[in-house]
Amino acid sequence: MFIFAPTKNNNMPYPYNPPDYFQIDELLSEEHKIVRSAIRDWVNRSVVPVIDQAAHEHKFHERFIKELGELGAFGPFIPTEYGGAGMDHIAYGVIMTELERGDSAIRSTASVHTSLVMYPIFTFGSEEQKRKYLPGLASGDLIGCFGLTEPNQGSDPGGMEAKIKDMGGHYLLNGAKMWITNSSIADIAVVWAKDENGIVRGMVVEKEWTGFSAPETHNKWSLRASVTGELVFDDVKVPKENVFPEIKGLKGPLMCLNSARYGIAWGAIGAAMDCYNTALQYSLERKQFNKPIAAFQLQQKKLAEIVTEITKAQLLAWRLGKLKNEGKATPAQISMAKCNNVEMALNVARESRQILGAMGITGDFPIMRHMMNLESVITYEGTHDIHLLITGSDITGIHAFE
Ligand SMILES: Cc1cc2nc3c(=O)[nH]c(=O)nc-3n(C[C@H](O)[C@H](O)[C@H](O)COP(=O)(O)OP(=O)(O)OC[C@H]3O[C@@H](n4cnc5c(N)ncnc54)[C@H](O)[C@@H]3O)c2cc1C
Repeated sequence: MFIFAPTKNNNMPYPYNPPDYFQIDELLSEEHKIVRSAIRDWVNRSVVPVIDQAAHEHKFHERFIKELGELGAFGPFIPTEYGGAGMDHIAYGVIMTELERGDSAIRSTASVHTSLVMYPIFTFGSEEQKRKYLPGLASGDLIGCFGLTEPNQGSDPGGMEAKIKDMGGHYLLNGAKMWITNSSIADIAVVWAKDENGIVRGMVVEKEWTGFSAPETHNKWSLRASVTGELVFDDVKVPKENVFPEIKGLKGPLMCLNSARYGIAWGAIGAAMDCYNTALQYSLERKQFNKPIAAFQLQQKKLAEIVTEITKAQLLAWRLGKLKNEGKATPAQISMAKCNNVEMALNVARESRQILGAMGITGDFPIMRHMMNLESVITYEGTHDIHLLITGSDITGIHAFE
């Protein structure tokens, strides 16, 4: 793993001093801290100076892909023999926090690539598929996307209409996917479609194959520095060796989503910490009525509530990471953490924006960008409502969303 040397960055409105109110640092290993420091420095050096402009221009900087690969941010928990970093799930979480501090777009690229592309190839793929795709994905020579959502099927992927037909030597894939992160820049797509028996199957589709196109979706007000688009399959010939051999049914994509949701639970904390850091420092500098606004009780209440919520989210993520490392994290626990931590971050962004008054709406500070991004984060990988229903189902034994 190549790690960039620390550099000074003069483009941040304030130095980044994330809160650690309950000394969670003591719970991290030296390896976690080294990784965190490398990613934080990269974000300071490579993302912060360009991200506001990128969001204005609706532009994803493709150089990020190779740089993230060099940093070891792709597939950190994938074993080294397949090009990953062989680290634990807390390291993955720490990386997601640091990336989302830069922008949810960067974390989205890394978490889709890691949890929704590398994870299924590693977990469900044949040995040949792993050797063919994982090293290039880990290094950033290849970029991947994940096609589950369709124009007519979002929260209910079981109703998917994409289909494969067995033609003897290969399958024919037809259908369309929508709202796909990395779509038009991806070299490969992990795609889920039903076979002739209505069973969901997963496969790796390469961008050069005839009949496959990936138009970009424009005009988003959220995740503007991320590529989102469609995947269109018109009689695409998929060789049989590209279909995941064993996994069948919705369990496959849902296992991928669990991995991605876990990363989001950590990532959202980074966006919240960036908003809090900005609001705290601004409130100490900005004077009204001859005092810093931080001296007013109402502003202190806001800041105190924000740091409390961030601390609770940090502890939830850390405990979830321990459970994940031990193979004990349940899908319902992951749903609870994703649901809580993203809502927390969105509320923190809204409160922090108010502390900055009018300045809070400008691109001179990161808060409004985070706030708009988090509107996507609270919807994708399962909406906030669906995660509440997963928790509701887990605690009552009654499944309320079918
Ligand atoms: C920027 C972005 C990137 C994305 N990237 C990807 C990607 O890479 N790959 C991919 O496959 N998908 C991706 N998605 C899609 C995302 O996962 C879906 O948007 C999400 O699952 C919700 O589906 P939907 O938008 O169709 O909403 P719908 O399912 O139509 O839901 C609309 C509303 O109805 C509510 N609702 C639905 N069903 C119920 C119910 N049973 N009970 C109560 N309320 C309900 C929902 O909570 C929501 O509030 C992305 C989305 C965005 C915005």
